[in-house]
Amino acid sequence: MPQQTGTYCESCYMPFAKDTGKRESEKYCSLCYKDGKLCYEGSDLKEFQRVAYESMIARGTNKWLAKFYTYMIRFAPRWKK
Ligand SMILES: [Zn+2]
Repeated sequence: MPQQTGTYCESCYMPFAKDTGKRESEKYCSLCYKDGKLCYEGSDLKEFQRVAYESMIARGTNKWLAKFYTYMIRFAPRWKK
């Protein structure tokens, strides 16, 4: 097992255990961080939540689960005020 700094993505708060992609960063999941950079580089939580929600739906996530995960994003370290 590789060394892990955290258990959750610091951007979308997804548990790394649920991340099915290949993670490039120790802090972010494979969906938030790709090709050496954050996929969403803005600082607008609402906008990020919309993008994250749509990508979850696109990946076949249950609508209510997707809403819940989207709600949880605000607690991720990246968005803490
Ligand atoms: Zn993420």
